[in-house]
Amino acid sequence: MKSELFFILSSSCKVVKGYSRSVIIDYLRGNLYFISHQYHDLIEKLDRNQIVKIANDLEDEESIVYFNDFLSFVLENELAFLVKDVELYPKVSEEVDDDFTLLQDVIIEIDENLFNKNHFVALCHDLTTLHCKDFQIRLLSSFNTEFLNEIILLINETNCNYLEIHCSYNEETTRESLDKFIEEHCILSRIFIYDAPNISKHEVVNEIQGHYPISLGEIMYINYSFDNGNCCGIINYESLNFTSFYMHNKLKSKNGCLDKKISIDRYGNIKNCPSIKNEYGNIQNDSIIEVLKNDLFTKYWNINKDQITTCKVCEFRYNCTDCRAFVEDSNDIYSKPSKCSYNPITCIWEDEAVIN
Ligand code: SF4
Ligand code: SF4
Repeated sequence: MKSELFFILSSSCKVVKGYSRSVIIDYLRGNLYFISHQYHDLIEKLDRNQIVKIANDLEDEESIVYFNDFLSFVLENELAFLVKDVELYPKVSEEVDDDFTLLQDVIIEIDENLFNKNHFVALCHDLTTLHCKDFQIRLLSSFNTEFLNEIILLINETNCNYLEIHCSYNEETTRESLDKFIEEHCILSRIFIYDAPNISKHEVVNEIQGHYPISLGEIMYINYSFDNGNCCGIINYESLNFTSFYMHNKLKSKNGCLDKKISIDRYGNIKNCPSIKNEYGNIQNDSIIEVLKNDLFTKYWNINKDQITTCKVCEFRYNCTDCRAFVEDSNDIYSKPSKCSYNPITCIWEDEAVIN
């Protein structure tokens, strides 16, 4: 009989309680289902339990009707399923720590006029030791292909498997030259061009007759200014991530932006992020390997969404990477990101006045 079966919440789904509403997130399909807190609590009770046990606690006819409707809804949308033997469906672990990767990503500001090759080589050596994989270059001088070729050759010697370049628009750097640049550097995945006349996105594709086209990278034209990195940290509905189950788990204990991140500003100063004031030495004299041992530096890594004012009651808190550089109260390390206008009490993005 159906009621004797066990209810299993699909391992691709997570249920989160916010202040005013709860949400089921189906990470497999990137779908959201807003539900009341009562249904959130019901799913928590149901998961890995026999339906009959929960149904027996229902007191009146109306509750039974709502229960059956809700059950049909989650089963029809494949958010859950029913099984005979619950032991065969253990919960998927939420463990996320990767001890091998001591550093996940690095932001390096580069100004050709201040660039010192020896310091950059030493930095790349340390990044390799720390198994750093994601590199972001913020190019503060003009796009100079020859200079960037030299930089990328050095990055190629590291463990980098993702590289993006952020720079400002200039008329001499044409689309064709950027396409060619991406084609020549397989490590380079994205180029972001700020202050462009129009917003647009182009995929650079390798097409050979008789074969499937292969995407080599993307060029994104953005119509606002890079403003020395002050454009970073914007949180809006489009920036939320509803497809990464891993990110959801990570945001429960780690900071979505700053965990295992290091930044080097144009002068070689070592920071958590170029827009955070605190400095922890300079690559001219200091090794980033030593900086990672400093608890003051790593304190940002563990600031999670459940600790941040307002965010801790937001139903999107495990979909939102956070920003610690631009916050509402600069004296409060747990203050809400100032570039987010979402109000979890009203469920409104207040700068857009749109309910999502
Ligand atoms: S802390 Fe904020 S400004 Fe710094 S890199 Fe992260 S999102 Fe950008
Ligand atoms: S309130 Fe916090 S968790 Fe919610 S969307 Fe804004 S920054 Fe993200």
